[in-house]
Amino acid sequence: MFLPCVFLRDDDIWSDDEVFLELSGFLKELRLPVIYGVIPLRLEPRMAVVLKNAKKSDPALVDIVQHGYQHANHAAAGVAKYEFGPGRSNDRQHKDMSAGLKIMHRSFGAMFTPAFIPPYHGYDRATLDAVEDLGFRIFSAGKKAALSGRSFLDLPARVALNKYAPDGTPLAFDSRDMIAQWRRAAAGRGVIGLVYHHRAIKGADDMTAIKTFFRFLALLRDQGHVRLALFSDLLRVEKSGRERCR
Ligand SMILES: [Zn+2]
Repeated sequence: MFLPCVFLRDDDIWSDDEVFLELSGFLKELRLPVIYGVIPLRLEPRMAVVLKNAKKSDPALVDIVQHGYQHANHAAAGVAKYEFGPGRSNDRQHKDMSAGLKIMHRSFGAMFTPAFIPPYHGYDRATLDAVEDLGFRIFSAGKKAALSGRSFLDLPARVALNKYAPDGTPLAFDSRDMIAQWRRAAAGRGVIGLVYHHRAIKGADDMTAIKTFFRFLALLRDQGHVRLALFSDLLRVEKSGRERCR
C-alpha cells in the first residue's frame, strides 16, 4: 500500500541538554523516528556518545546527519543568512563541508547517514557541487520544489514546526498552527518533511505543544494514514527501486 511518507528532522544538535533528552525520550516512547542534524564543529563528546547509544539501541528510530560545519553566518547584513552560499568561493565551501564530514566520520563511523542540511537552508550551485563531490546521498534544505538531475536525493523539509523571528531565529511552538501546516502539506504529493528545533523550546507551553503534535503524528501512523521514515530508510527504498511512498 502506498502511504504518504513523513520524516522528522531536529536541527542544531551538539549538546545533551535537558530539552533534547526529554524530547528524544518522548519520541522513543512513541516509536517516532527522528533525523538529528549535527553541527560538526560544535559537537560535544558527551553528545556524540548519547547519539551513538541511541542509534545502536534502536537503529530504526535515529539517523545522524551533517548540518553545515560550524553554523556560522557568512551573509552580508540585510541578506538572508547562510553558512554556504553566494558570498563564499567554491573552494571555501568545499573545504568547510569536507572538514565537517571528517568530524562526522570520526565521531560516528558507520552510524553516520551521508546527508547534508545547509544551515539557515541557504545554498547555491557551489554548495550542491560540493555535496555531490563529497559523496553525500541526500540533501535536505527548506521549503522549495525538489531539485532533480543530481546524484543525490533532494528531500526538502517543507514544513517548519516552530515559528521564526524576522532574523531567522527559531521561536515558539503552537500545536494548532503545526496541525494547520500539516494539513496543507499532507494535501500535496511527495515526501512530507517536517523540521523543528528543540532548542527553540523555551518553557512548558512549547514542550506541551510539540508533544501534542507528536502524539497526533503517532496516531496517524498507528491508524495507517502515514509512514514515518528516516533518510536511511528512504535511501534503501531508492536503491531497491521500489516506490513505497505516495
Ligand atoms: Zn540550523
